[in-house]
Amino acid sequence: MHYRVAILIVLFSAGTAFGQTDDRSLRENMVDKQLKGRDITDKATIKAMLEVPRHEFVPEDLKHLAYGDGPLPIGEEQTISQPYIVAFMTQSLNLKPDDQVLEIGTGSGYQAAVLAEIVDSVHTIEIVEKLGLRAKKKLRELGYTNVNVKIGDGYHGWPEKSPFDAIIVTAGAETIPPALIEQLADGGRLIIPKGSTASVQQLVLATKSNGKLKTKTLLPVRFVPFTRDRNR
Ligand code: SAH
Repeated sequence: MHYRVAILIVLFSAGTAFGQTDDRSLRENMVDKQLKGRDITDKATIKAMLEVPRHEFVPEDLKHLAYGDGPLPIGEEQTISQPYIVAFMTQSLNLKPDDQVLEIGTGSGYQAAVLAEIVDSVHTIEIVEKLGLRAKKKLRELGYTNVNVKIGDGYHGWPEKSPFDAIIVTAGAETIPPALIEQLADGGRLIIPKGSTASVQQLVLATKSNGKLKTKTLLPVRFVPFTRDRNR
């Protein structure tokens, strides 16, 4: 009996020493309380949120807050969104594994990693070079070979890789950039925080059907602003 307890203790400490037991259980707790405890029910989204190590996408000194219920600064005046908002936007896109997805606003790369757990191919554009390069390196290190990061102004989308089945904009914009509507496939879904003030926007889901766009307002949110050609 004593022997068995001792083995369990050794196994447990080996797991925590590598941080695996720890961060997995922190994510389980995050999913139970912050996501399932609200309105996140999509199985693929929940699985992705359990898999992606959010602590790898936040600054070193904020790692202890990685599984908390809020956004965090990532440098360059930008933020990684609250886990619930990442899950909510992902769930709203109703993704299928073979969907081609475009993200505008790579930031830390976390949202791109969540998408990459669900679909075969993710393209993501970041306007701040330093953030884009850092995200690219991190995604490569973590083995997300199905994410393609580009530095540039997402206002123009990524025409060479279009059409996209889903487009997610993670910066608050006044209007939906026309190029993104053009690059959305028929039957495609686009989600964007839309609003004329920098402090509050409405999350809008647009769907394209027979060339026509239908929009639906989902939730008030607060995102950093969509900028144009800032570092050029
Ligand atoms: N999805 C990110 C968080 C996004 S924060 C994550 O998971 O961490 C919003 C990001 O959008 C910022 O990094 C900002 O620099 C970027 N951004 C703002 N305007 C942009 C534009 N026109 N094109 C591409 N990226 C843009």
